[in-house]
Amino acid sequence: MSADPAQDAGAAGAASEDEAIRVENLHKSFGQLEVLKGVSLVAHKGDVVAIIGGSGSGKSTFLRCVNFLETPSSGRIVIGGEDIAMRPDGTPVSRKQIEKARTRLGMVFQAFNLWTHRTLLENVIEVPVHVLGVPKAEAIVRAEKLLARVGLSAKADTFPAFLSGGQQQRAAIARALAIEPSVMLFDEPTSALDPELVGEVLSVIRDLAAEGRTMLLVTHEMKFAREVATHVIYLHNGVIEEEGPPETVFGAPRSDRLKQFLKSVA
Ligand code: ADP
Ligand code: MG
Repeated sequence: MSADPAQDAGAAGAASEDEAIRVENLHKSFGQLEVLKGVSLVAHKGDVVAIIGGSGSGKSTFLRCVNFLETPSSGRIVIGGEDIAMRPDGTPVSRKQIEKARTRLGMVFQAFNLWTHRTLLENVIEVPVHVLGVPKAEAIVRAEKLLARVGLSAKADTFPAFLSGGQQQRAAIARALAIEPSVMLFDEPTSALDPELVGEVLSVIRDLAAEGRTMLLVTHEMKFAREVATHVIYLHNGVIEEEGPPETVFGAPRSDRLKQFLKSVA
């Protein structure tokens, strides 16, 4: 794939054009501990890739590497046709290019991570205005639409502490959407919520999937993953142990480990 978009459109063909994100042979070690041992995935536009696996299998580290919250030890990450980890020839990518690539990714964490001293509206406009240079008036109009979409119009001027966990997480989703990301990354977005609040957050994510957003979704909500995912990856000890369409991974798992895992979370 070339850096010239015009050339890509012709030579590389439809398959790569609608590729949103590609990860090749991603490795990550913390000191002696090798957490990711060569993980690869490709998501095309509109794909919802669910990543499942036991605690400590490397799911969060994988998403954090994709978003450069961790620097991968080796491997390739291509977002919208651009290499952002390492070029195939081994030369590193500049900090500036990494920062630019990160603006294509909307990340939603387990803990809501809103800025506590800012209202919801201020949370949503922060990055568009201060990082992306969107004029404030325009950012506010967009933020109001996004807050409406996640059902929080009435709370725009409220501080996070006055909201339920479900409302905070929906606001965090609005904030992630505000940068108009090409890929959304979710890391167990409902696992810190009281059970009665899980549904309202899943419902927002379900809507995003239905409108064709590309997403990588780490989740322990297996029923939900089966429902929304176009592809499921089962990670064990930093390796993809099994993957495939949800009907197969959940309905006809092959490896004993995955069978065991699905039983343990049922
Ligand atoms: P998961 O999200 O699947 O539960 P993680 O990616 O959080 O797993 O962690 C995978 C492994 O990497 C764990 O053994 C964890 O202790 C280790 N790990 C994660 N982050 C760090 C870090 N910053 N430094 C050292 N070890 C880490
Ligand atoms: Mg995790």
